[in-house]
Amino acid sequence: MTLLPLDGMRGLVEPDPVPADAGRPCALPGSPLAGELPGINACVHCGFCLQACPTYLALEDENDSPRGRIFLMRSLLEGTVAPDDASMQTHIGRCLGCRACETACPSGVPYGHLLEATIATLSQSRRIPFIARLILAVFANRILLSIAMFGSRLVAATPLPTLLSRIGGRSGFAMAMLASAGSPLERDPYSTPVGGERGKAALLEGCVMEGLFTDTNRATERVLRVNGYATIPAKGQRCCGALHAHAGDLEKARMLARGNIEAFERSGADVIAVNSAGCGAMMKDYEHLLKDDPNWRERAAAVAGRVRDVSELLAAAGPVPGAALPLRVSYDAPCHLLHGQRVSLPPLAVLAAIPQLELVPLRDSDQCCGSAGIFNLIEPETSDLVLSAKLANIAETGAQFIATGNPGCLMQIGAGLLRSRSRTRAIHPVDLLDASYAMAKQ
Ligand code: SF4
Ligand code: SF4
Repeated sequence: MTLLPLDGMRGLVEPDPVPADAGRPCALPGSPLAGELPGINACVHCGFCLQACPTYLALEDENDSPRGRIFLMRSLLEGTVAPDDASMQTHIGRCLGCRACETACPSGVPYGHLLEATIATLSQSRRIPFIARLILAVFANRILLSIAMFGSRLVAATPLPTLLSRIGGRSGFAMAMLASAGSPLERDPYSTPVGGERGKAALLEGCVMEGLFTDTNRATERVLRVNGYATIPAKGQRCCGALHAHAGDLEKARMLARGNIEAFERSGADVIAVNSAGCGAMMKDYEHLLKDDPNWRERAAAVAGRVRDVSELLAAAGPVPGAALPLRVSYDAPCHLLHGQRVSLPPLAVLAAIPQLELVPLRDSDQCCGSAGIFNLIEPETSDLVLSAKLANIAETGAQFIATGNPGCLMQIGAGLLRSRSRTRAIHPVDLLDASYAMAKQ
């Protein structure tokens, strides 16, 4: 194989004519990436994924495209690039994990699995950045998470985050994200039917959703009941493990997944409702995460099979229409809903249930906003580039609200809008439906 120079390579990757498993010894036997070799070999280098990739579009470097990164993964297994190679760390590190390439790929390359396995393999030879380790440690520990979320809520309730959002750099952006947490629509809670004819739904509360979007979680339970689901608790549930899996800590992700499987089995729920796209994509993938664990694989598959995005549940029920909300709204598809779960129409059905809501199209609504878990904190330059394109498209719509069903996207887009002094606000689609139901009860 001719290894092309990693940096500055802007043309097409020279395809390897010999598959990595064709008689060559694997350079990383037993590594997470070695187990994903069939997925690497599924890539036929056609390049259909390139124009779907936000980092390729922003950076115009083949190494920052799906095809280029798969080439690097293959090189790792063949031993022609070392795991601690700086260019390898750079180009894999810049991947958003948005999985738009999966939707575009005609060969069914499971890019998300390849990326997770690559990061897990690379993390064996380099330390995860300090900020990422700190965040992962907090999210894996119930007490630390409660303290962190309590503190964040206290600060978010003051004018401080909005004031400090104007300072430059990541600190200012982090404050803008905090200022953008929560629903921008005030409304009074309303009485709901007990529900139940559509079955019992347990909500994945989610770390950030329950911590910073508490009102949206309660709104989710209300709209589910209005639409015929009985809402029941799933005590003992944990972080879904997505942040850990995406950062390469697969063992911690598995530990959290096992906790959730137990909690949701115990709950007796027919369906597990998730209002955070990233968490939903992770939970639907629990079977793959635990595929090598014979004690948990089947239980993981059973729980994963009951996970639904809240928009899927509502769309299946109609949803029940609410009162008129004459608002101009645009919809941005979270990557982990559109590409990770292949859920595209249900969120639009949720918005269509609101009379007089004017839905205006958003250019490139299928493109990532640059949030990608904690990507915006550890790869700020790439994240900013991707977000800038999203903000320009949002500005074209003239919308009052940009609806999107993922806390990371809500805070990323919300922070970008705040810092660019836009009057548009980011909102969860469920909050709009809930406001419509609240209005109907007045
Ligand atoms: S579209 Fe799929 S097969 Fe084609 S280069 Fe991209 S990942 Fe490979
Ligand atoms: S996951 Fe997103 S950023 Fe990464 S290679 Fe695929 S399309 Fe590009």
